[in-house]
Amino acid sequence: MKNKIVNLVRSDILNLSPYQSAREEYTYNKACFLDANESPYGLYNRYPDPFQNKLKIKISKIKNIGIESIFIGNGSDEPIDMVYRIFCNPRQDKVLIFNPTYGMYSVYAAINGVDIIYQKLNEDFQIDNKSIDILCQDKEIKLIFICNPNNPTGTIIAPTSIEKILNTFNSIVVIDEAYIDFCPEYSWLPKLKRYPNLIIIQTLSKAWGMAGLRIGLAFMSPDILYFFNKIKSPYNISEVNQREATEILKDQCEFQTNIKLIKQETIRVVSETEKLSIVTKVYPTQTNFILVEFKNAQRIYDSLISKQIVVRNRSSQIPNTLRITVGNKKENNTLIQTLKQLDNE
Ligand SMILES: *Cc1c(COP(=O)(O)O)cnc(C)c1O
Repeated sequence: MKNKIVNLVRSDILNLSPYQSAREEYTYNKACFLDANESPYGLYNRYPDPFQNKLKIKISKIKNIGIESIFIGNGSDEPIDMVYRIFCNPRQDKVLIFNPTYGMYSVYAAINGVDIIYQKLNEDFQIDNKSIDILCQDKEIKLIFICNPNNPTGTIIAPTSIEKILNTFNSIVVIDEAYIDFCPEYSWLPKLKRYPNLIIIQTLSKAWGMAGLRIGLAFMSPDILYFFNKIKSPYNISEVNQREATEILKDQCEFQTNIKLIKQETIRVVSETEKLSIVTKVYPTQTNFILVEFKNAQRIYDSLISKQIVVRNRSSQIPNTLRITVGNKKENNTLIQTLKQLDNE
């Protein structure tokens, strides 16, 4: 990439003098803290560590990446929003999004007044390599989002396509790896250092089973991290969430066991679903969900809902499809039984 990061940042952000939180200058645990207007009483009376150091140390070890490259957000939606705010001038810069994909890239683009260029993935849900060359030269595009593996399709985007984008695009590339713990061999994290314009987003919400804690991870060069830290809300991750997440991350064993179970169940749900005559296609998946094409997805969706089985109707993006999350054995049995009943009607 020819551009320096500072030359890509919005001037409002470059010129911003950030809020200095009271606790940033003093990191010792024991002191007479009369600086932040906290109450001296109560269980959670003190503001949390604004930079989540303990949690970052843990993540640094698990992900094998330096703390100087880690940002922690209130869910991964927070860093997605922040990328727009740091790099995209409203009503001027554009974002490139490959459809069908995760909806929040468009939502945050709209909130931040950023125009979207949609490029459709081909029928194998891959990026069309011919269009990449042209799009990567488009000076108006400031940002490219790639969801890998992609939601709702469950597919891996060809590494050659991603590499081509990283090598030819002269601005920021975001790879959203929300489901990467189900297929870690496809992560771009080991190559982060090669690409100063790359931001990799992950989350503890999916494979790690901590959706309720709202912990999103973003990995990037220290040059970009500087601006994330500059604009972040001072205490964006609560004390309770920092502590709980650090604790749960210690149990690698349970994490690996759960992933194994989910993978076994995914294979079973796929093979049971493929047998049904109401089903026309089950897309291959690298994640904990499967995209299933039905003869009549709406009918199946409504029938499942009436039996209190909630799946995601993705038919507006990909005709006649439902996205089904793989649950535990019992949940999957309920789903399969119900689908079999519908198959016989
Ligand atoms: C679930 C999901 C996220 C959001 O995760 P949170 O960390 O819970 O905000 C981000 N990207 C994709 C593609 C997802 O599917």
